[in-house]
Amino acid sequence: MLYDERQGEFDLPGEDSPWADSGEDDLPPVPEVSISYPPADLDIERLAGADAPITSVARISEKRVELLRKLGVTTLGDCLENYPRDYLDRTRMTRIGSAGAADDAETVQGRVVRHVDVPVRRAKAPKVTKVIIYDGTALAALVGFGRRAGYLKVSLHVDDVVVVTGKFKRSQRGEARIEATTFEYEVLSDEDAELVHTGRLVPVYRLTADMPQRALRTFMARVANAHGPNVPEALPEDLRRRRGLMHRPQAIRQIHLPESSEALRLARERLVFEEFFLLQLGLLLRKESNEAAQPGIAFRTDGDKANRLRAALPFQLTAAQESSLAEIEADMRRDAPMSRLLQGDVGSGKTIVAGIALTHAVENGLQGAIMAPTEILAEQHYRTLSTLFESMDIRAVLVKGDMPAAARREATEMIASGEADVVVGTHALIQDSVEFADLGFVVTDEQHRFGVMQRATLRSKGHAVDTLVMTATPIPRTLALTAYGDLTLSVIDELPPGRKPIVTKQFTDSGRDHLYRFVESQLKKGRQTYVIYPLIEESEKLEDIQAAVEGHEQLSLRFADWRVGLLHGRLRGDEKSDIMQRFHRHEIDVLVSTTVIEVGVDVPNANVMVIEHADRFGLAQLHQLRGRVGRGEHESYCALVGWPKSDDARRRLDVMAATTDGFVIAEEDLKIRGPGEILGTRQAGLPDLKLASLVTDIRVLEAAREDASALVLADPALASPSHALLRETVLRAWGGKLRLASVG
Ligand code: ADP
Ligand code: MG
Repeated sequence: MLYDERQGEFDLPGEDSPWADSGEDDLPPVPEVSISYPPADLDIERLAGADAPITSVARISEKRVELLRKLGVTTLGDCLENYPRDYLDRTRMTRIGSAGAADDAETVQGRVVRHVDVPVRRAKAPKVTKVIIYDGTALAALVGFGRRAGYLKVSLHVDDVVVVTGKFKRSQRGEARIEATTFEYEVLSDEDAELVHTGRLVPVYRLTADMPQRALRTFMARVANAHGPNVPEALPEDLRRRRGLMHRPQAIRQIHLPESSEALRLARERLVFEEFFLLQLGLLLRKESNEAAQPGIAFRTDGDKANRLRAALPFQLTAAQESSLAEIEADMRRDAPMSRLLQGDVGSGKTIVAGIALTHAVENGLQGAIMAPTEILAEQHYRTLSTLFESMDIRAVLVKGDMPAAARREATEMIASGEADVVVGTHALIQDSVEFADLGFVVTDEQHRFGVMQRATLRSKGHAVDTLVMTATPIPRTLALTAYGDLTLSVIDELPPGRKPIVTKQFTDSGRDHLYRFVESQLKKGRQTYVIYPLIEESEKLEDIQAAVEGHEQLSLRFADWRVGLLHGRLRGDEKSDIMQRFHRHEIDVLVSTTVIEVGVDVPNANVMVIEHADRFGLAQLHQLRGRVGRGEHESYCALVGWPKSDDARRRLDVMAATTDGFVIAEEDLKIRGPGEILGTRQAGLPDLKLASLVTDIRVLEAAREDASALVLADPALASPSHALLRETVLRAWGGKLRLASVG
C-alpha cells in the first residue's frame, strides 16, 4: 500500500481495532504433564555450589575463563544458566544418496573411506583436501581449503564414523558426486556417544569475540553433563507435581542438550516458571515483610468532608472509579500500610479518586502528598485540588523546583507545622528540606516517570504511610504483575460517559494544507488546538526547541487571526505556568509546544492535537499526547504528521490510527519495544529474566504468581524448614535486593 493512501480527511470514525479479540486467551494453556521425580533433596550446600567460581570446572583454561567473563559468566551457576539463545534442528538424518537435493543444511552419517589431495595448478591457490565418506548409498566429499584442509586430514581418520551437517551440493566431477564446503562435523567415538554439534537439536549460544560457537558448545555440554545433575531442586515437591514441572537437574541438562523438542519445551517451561516464581515470590515476600515490619495507619473513611466533596462534583463517578475507590478505602481502613497501583487510561479520571482518598487522610488528622512528574502537571493538580478542597476547609500547598525562596520557605514552614493539609509538588517534595508534620498518605502520579527509589523516599517522610501509585500509561497486565508485584492493582477500565473516540489520521507534507484548513474550521467553532514538536523535557536540546520556535513562527503567520502560544522546557517555571493558564482560560487558541505537556494536562476545550514528526515518538508517548484531547464533550482529532522511515515507526503510526484503547496500545508497545525498554527492570531493582518472555509466557507468569501467593499466604516468611532451600534460592535470585527476617 502506498503510504499516501492512508492519509485522509477527518471524516471516518475510527474503524474496529484489528486487535480487538486477540487477547491473551488465545495463547495455548500450560499443559498438564505428569512426570515422576526423585524426592526433593534439601541440600543448601549444593545451592552454594552454584556460587563456586568457574575455575572449579575441570581442565578449564585461563583464556576461557577470561572469555566467559566477557559473557557475564563467572560462577558455575552463571554457566549453567547461560542458556542457549537458539537451537538448530539437526535431528533428521539424510542418506547420502538422496542428499544435495534440498537447499537447506542436511545431516548425514558415514564412514571416512579416504583422503584426496586435489592438485592445485596456480601457485597462490589454497591447498584443497577432500575427505570422502560413504554410508552404503553413495559417497560424499567434505571439502576443505587452506588451513582447514590440513586440519580435516588430522581430525578425520580413515574408518572414523562421522556425522556431518552441511549444505550438500551435487557436483558434476570427481569420484564423489555429492559435496559440501560449509559443514560442521563430529566424530562418533563409539556407538552410544552423545553428539553435541550435529545429528540432534543443537544449542546455539551467545558469543563473544575469539569464542567460536563450536568451542563454547563443547564446553557447555561438558559443564551441563558434569554439573547439571547436581543442581538443587528448590521448588516444593507438591507444587512441581501439580504443575507437571520437570525436575530441575533434568531441566538444566535438557535446556543445553535437549533429547527432543518435547523435552526442550518442558525444560524451558520449567525454567521459565522458576524465573517467574522466584520473581513473584520475592515481590510478595517484600510486601509481606514491609507490612509486618510496621503496622500502618487504620484510617476512617466515612468522614463528612469526603461525602461533601463527592456531592459537590459536577458528575457521577463511573462504576470503575467507584470500585477502585472502594478498594483504596478498604486498604486505608486496614492497619497495614497500603501499596496500591491505580491504573487507568488517560482521561479515565484518576485525579478525583486520589482527591477523595486524600480527603480521608486529612479527615483523620494527617497530611497527604501528591507528587507529579512535571511542574505543569503539579500546578494543574494543585489548581484542581485546591478548587475541590476550598469549601471543605482543606489547605493545599504547592512545592516545586523553581520557586522564589520566600514562597518556598513559606510552603515548607506550613508543611512542617501541619498547617498544610495536602502538599502537591514535583520531585522537589522528596528533598531533605521538606519535612512533614504528620504525613499519612502519599500519591505518586504518572508512576513510570519515577524510580522505585523516589517513591520510597517520599514514603519514608511519614511513618508507615499508605501509598497510592497512579499510572496513566496503562502497563500491560503482565508487566504490572511483574514489575509492581509488590503493589496491589486497581484498574479504572472505563472512561467517563460521553467520550468520543479520537479520530486519528496520518499526514505528510502534502496533506498539511488540508490539515490547517481543518484546524481553522475547529478554531472557528471555538475550540483550541495543540501542535507538538518532538523530544522530551529532560533532554530538550536547543535544536529541538528551535523546531518548536520555528513552528511557532510559521503557525503565527498561517493562523494570523488567532492567538498562537509557545511552550517549551527552557522557559522559566513562571513563564510556563503563565502560558498554561492562558491556554486554560482560552486566551490562547493554538498552543505550540514541545512534549512538556505530554502527561496529564487537562484542557477539555482543546480538541485537536497535531503531532509533528510523529514517527519519532514512541507509542506510549503518542498515546499520552493524544490523550490531551478527547477530554470534553467535543468530537476530537489527532493528526500524526510524519514520514516513517522504519517498519517499527510505520507500525507505531498504524497502531495509533487503528485504536485509541490504551491497553491495546500498551500491548503493541510491549511487542515492538520489549519489556526491558518500557520498565527498565534494572532501574526497578528486579532480578533479570534470562529465559522468560513477558510477551509469550503470560500463562506461565500467571500460574507462577498464583502459586507464589498461595505459598506466601501459607508461610509468609518462608520459615518452615521444608522451605529452607527455597528461601535461600529466592534470596540468591534477588542478590541482596530482598531482605527477610532471619529464621531462628
Ligand atoms: P487521568 O486519569 O488521565 O488523570 P483526569 O483525572 O485528569 O484523568 O480526568 C480527566 C477529566 O475527566 C477531567 O476533566 C475530570 O474532571 C473528568 N472526569 C473525571 N471523572 C469523571 C466522571 N466520572 N464523569 C465525567 N468527567 C469526569
Ligand atoms: Mg492524570
